[in-house]
Amino acid sequence: MEQKSGTTEMYIGLEQRYGARNYHPVPVVVDRALDCLVWDVQGREYIDMMGAYSAVSHGHLHPRLVAAAKRQLEKVAVTSRAYHSNTLGPFLAKLCDVAGFERALPMNTGAEAVETAIKCARRWGYRVKGIPDGQAEILVARGNFHGRTNTIIGFSSEADYRAGFGPFTPGFRHFDFGDMASIEAAAGPNTCAVLIEPIQGEAGIVLPPPGFFRALRDWCTKNRVLLIDDEVQAGLGRTGKWFAFEHEGIRPDALILGKALGGGLLPVSAFLADAAVMDVFNPGSHGSTFGGNALAAAVALEGLQVLEDEKLVERAAQMGPLLMERLLEVQKAAGQLVRDVRGRGLWIGVDIDPAHGSARELVERMAQRGVLSKETHETVIRFAPPLTVTPALIEKATRIFREVAVEARG
Ligand SMILES: *Cc1c(COP(=O)(O)O)cnc(C)c1O
Repeated sequence: MEQKSGTTEMYIGLEQRYGARNYHPVPVVVDRALDCLVWDVQGREYIDMMGAYSAVSHGHLHPRLVAAAKRQLEKVAVTSRAYHSNTLGPFLAKLCDVAGFERALPMNTGAEAVETAIKCARRWGYRVKGIPDGQAEILVARGNFHGRTNTIIGFSSEADYRAGFGPFTPGFRHFDFGDMASIEAAAGPNTCAVLIEPIQGEAGIVLPPPGFFRALRDWCTKNRVLLIDDEVQAGLGRTGKWFAFEHEGIRPDALILGKALGGGLLPVSAFLADAAVMDVFNPGSHGSTFGGNALAAAVALEGLQVLEDEKLVERAAQMGPLLMERLLEVQKAAGQLVRDVRGRGLWIGVDIDPAHGSARELVERMAQRGVLSKETHETVIRFAPPLTVTPALIEKATRIFREVAVEARG
């Protein structure tokens, strides 16, 4: 036992000694994982209630996705977009079909797909809307999270993300999430797009007020402004529908997907829009060496098929309310420790009152008892298990959370 925990310390020590210090991980050293379970290097078992920030919606190492990857690895993995492949076309066709858009542009990470959206929106602004060159403005919400490139953090409102990284790309203006009046105040004749998350994930799982997205949709249409919906985290079943915009009864002009699109195996992202918007791109104007590679396309296509065949979206819609119910019970049992429980589908944040306890400490204590979660923004504990999660796992994980929360209450 002594020696085994020495192994944990050794691996953590190596990361600390040789890695950049840009993360503060929970002290668990993962060795392997399958579906909703994870094992560390000491052989201890954990229930994964985090799902790698929604990248692992299919469960870890889904056998069909592993098989699809292996099949493709017997053939070809990377071709670059200098040539065609026989996996990219079928993947894009399926993706457009499930999302309801005419075209999709594949990238790797979420941030790259957001950058793609920004480039597309600006060019559309100049070439279609007629905004004077160099003047296009994109409206973004306060509290947004769209990734970590320099352009993207430049329009973050979070000091931690920005401090010391300027100068930043101009052309972005802020509004308050959920507030139409603040959008109208921020907009001008050169506004080409509103870039927005349907639910603000990293901000602490913040839901919009009812009707906000309908009003925003109408306003965008009336003012010829593109509504760009960043569903890198919310999309592909997480909220109990294929896409979070369906809850709002709207259709955006463009959609950004990532995370779960890679089936928990690979980084795969995409920017989707109809031809009238997407066709501002021409050969040479945008690209990515690995974007849409044959292996990624094969895995992502199978990933979409698995979501459909295993009815994982419906499953999220069924399991979400159970998870919510149990977390609300924890809130009741934990006195003033929990000040809010909010979310949609299998994406729920438990907001800890810092006057009564520390989210980080609760997360670490849960990990010691075999449940993986993660704090976001200091106070919010995130529950976003793979969509394959079972009622038994939800019961067990929330029972452990409840014990930890009641103990912390004192
Ligand atoms: C995670 C995330 C991104 C960035 O994705 P990366 O793959 O980390 O670059 C962008 N937008 C949203 C809403 C996200 O949650």
